[in-house]
Amino acid sequence: MNSPRLVGIVILAFTGCASVPLPPEAASIALVPGSSAAIRVHRPRLLTSKGNLELEAYVFRQFNADTTVDSHVDLVFLDGSGRTLRVETVSFWPRSLRRAARMPEPHAYVRTAVNIPNGTTTIEVRGHDGPHRDS
Ligand SMILES: [Zn+2]
Repeated sequence: MNSPRLVGIVILAFTGCASVPLPPEAASIALVPGSSAAIRVHRPRLLTSKGNLELEAYVFRQFNADTTVDSHVDLVFLDGSGRTLRVETVSFWPRSLRRAARMPEPHAYVRTAVNIPNGTTTIEVRGHDGPHRDS
């Protein structure tokens, strides 16, 4: 009778993990994408890079939009009661998203360093078309 033998399992330790944990105050923040008439924001997320907190998101052109060159992305920092703490305006790249035949839908990319105001619980990452009015 042969008895099964246990085979030693070598556990490889992987170093250089790609994802750096977010600081606790950032890990609990909700990121809410929002669309405009011309662009849709997809999969906003926070990440740390070289010790800095950054926000990234994908931007797609809306199906009926003629152009994306007049659009940008607003970052709206909200506290727990829904009050706006700060609004920042960021650009995406490339500015112009043309649709080409037989090509996957083109997308642009936002990546920006963020300085999150104290008390922020939600960041809306929303498309906005046209300029901001000075008031
Ligand atoms: Zn705006």
